[in-house]
Amino acid sequence: MSDAIVVGGGLVGAAIALGLRDAGLDTVLLDEGDIAHRASRGNFGLVWVQSKGLGAPWYQRWTRGSAGEWSALAADLAARTGLDLALRQPGGVHLCLSEEEFADRAARMAQMQAEAGNHGFEYRMIRRDELAAMLPGLGPAVVGASFTPYDGHASPLALLQALHRAFTEGGGAYVPEAKVRGGSAAPRDFRVETAAGAFAAPRIVLAAGLGNAELAPLFGLRAPVRPQRGQILVTERARPVLPMPTTTIRQTGEGTIMLGDSMEEVGFDTGQSPPVMAQIAQRAALSFPWIADLNIVRAWSALRVMAPDGLPIYDQSERFPGAFTANCHSGVTLAGAHARLLAPMIAAGSLDPVLAPFSARRFDVPAAA
Ligand SMILES: Cc1cc2nc3c(=O)[nH]c(=O)nc-3n(C[C@H](O)[C@H](O)[C@H](O)COP(=O)(O)OP(=O)(O)OC[C@H]3O[C@@H](n4cnc5c(N)ncnc54)[C@H](O)[C@@H]3O)c2cc1C
Repeated sequence: MSDAIVVGGGLVGAAIALGLRDAGLDTVLLDEGDIAHRASRGNFGLVWVQSKGLGAPWYQRWTRGSAGEWSALAADLAARTGLDLALRQPGGVHLCLSEEEFADRAARMAQMQAEAGNHGFEYRMIRRDELAAMLPGLGPAVVGASFTPYDGHASPLALLQALHRAFTEGGGAYVPEAKVRGGSAAPRDFRVETAAGAFAAPRIVLAAGLGNAELAPLFGLRAPVRPQRGQILVTERARPVLPMPTTTIRQTGEGTIMLGDSMEEVGFDTGQSPPVMAQIAQRAALSFPWIADLNIVRAWSALRVMAPDGLPIYDQSERFPGAFTANCHSGVTLAGAHARLLAPMIAAGSLDPVLAPFSARRFDVPAAA
């Protein structure tokens, strides 16, 4: 018997497991294994604030809070594990390739600022001439961009590795090849069956990505998440040339340029499609024509964990207190919040009211009169 079981060893589960361990809980992290759908190993690596939370200012605040926690998280993980997460937070831009895109973007950013109210939301719409001085080699097709100072990027693989290493070296128990196949639930008494044995604890956190949709009902929870495919291309290494990330183009610490990412509703199909890859490459070459001279050395697709409205889902079961769920499509960005804000709430036994709007109860359809 441990104090807590976390189901799912991706970015969400590993961040929460580390936070629980740091709160002093004897924590077991169960993971399905390499055949699983893992967004955490196929993502773009942005720590991104500026597009998050239009019409949902609570999500904008949560995201910004997480971006704010990131430097402490990266420093802490580096000190504990020796791993460099390549975190850079110089701000970020969303490039606009037509006047129409620029006008749409300006309206969107103005709405986000209005919705932020007293919390504030800093941004600038930047015209091409000024932008060209910020981003060398900018293509003539770019008419401008939105900029916010909150954005950045990091190595998502280093993050995943560091979370796991800090968790296990801090005394947490990581159990791979342990797909949860079933279990039983009673308030503060949870038992799960896996190929690696049975586990029991008074707290359980379902952080199994797309696997949560099936697991959640066993524990009196709902996680109506669906897959949404994204494809990414990676170029050969270049000299340091991009001083800040854009929504779809970033230069990694090693020098490669990552180009991404699509949003495709294709179910669990993890294939790649040349037309989508061509679109990604074309837009990148319009943004920075020099990118066309670089060879593409890798490409892949992965599945996002997407709620019906695109926002995270955080809940504690009303029927079985002690059972929690965490789901999101921005597990890199939200790692700071998951490890340093959400996990302490779970350890203390209840979610803070700031997370109430993220409950799956928002999907409840009112009964017909
Ligand atoms: C193309 C793409 C680009 C993205 N870009 C960004 C980005 O730039 N910035 C950002 O913040 N986010 C980005 N994301 C999203 C981010 O990758 C995800 O939010 C995050 O990885 C989700 O992590 P997770 O742990 O919930 O899910 P996963 O990574 O899918 O992990 C779930 C884990 O649960 C395990 N599991 C499943 N079922 C069970 C079970 N029954 N028992 C035990 N274990 C189980 C699996 O083995 C898996 O390891 C992107 C995603 C994609 C696909």
